[in-house]
Parts: sequence; C-alpha cells; structure tokens
Amino acid sequence: MALINCPECNREVSDRDEDCPHCGCPLKGPADIVAGRRVRTVERTAKTYKAWMLVGCLATLAGLAGSLGGGLSGKADFVLIGVLVVALGLAVSLWARLAAWWHHG
Ligand SMILES: [Zn+2]
Repeated sequence: MALINCPECNREVSDRDEDCPHCGCPLKGPADIVAGRRVRTVERTAKTYKAWMLVGCLATLAGLAGSLGGGLSGKADFVLIGVLVVALGLAVSLWARLAAWWHHG
C-alpha cells in the first residue's frame, strides 16, 4: 500500500481507496472532469431491476408471437397461453419499473 495525494483536497490517501475518505473525490474507476472537478456518474437503476424489465419485455414479445402463431394456425390453446404470457410479461415489466422507482427514485 502506498500513499498518494488526493487531487481534490491534496491530503494523503491510500492508493487502494476507491474514493478519498476526506472529501469523497473519486480516485479510481471512470471519472470525468466537470468544471475542474473529478466526478463519477453513478448508475441509478440497479441491474436487478433492469434484468426484470428485460424478462418482462421478452415474455411480452414471446406471448405476442405465441398468440399470433396460435391465431394463424387456429389453435385456441396457444392464443390463450400467449395472452396469459403477455399479461404476465407486462405485469413483470410494470413491477420492475415501480420497484426501480421505489428504491432509486
Ligand atoms: Zn480528498
């Protein structure tokens, strides 16, 4: 472990620190310079919710394709299952969107 000087407050910090413990200046990872200061953009929506939104969208598309295929081939069971999968996909998407909003704003 070595000590380096923080580019923001110039106090000594460990070169293993992600952020300066004194002023919070980001020391590692991607950072941009805005108005002469190092800033790091923090992802606001967790990947968990994004993954659930993706699952919901894929289920909606799969349900649409299933019900369309069932309708074209005259299979009523496929249409019903497709409509149910579409409803489930939309519900999962909506839940994930609301959960992301609830937890992250
Ligand atoms: Zn600092």
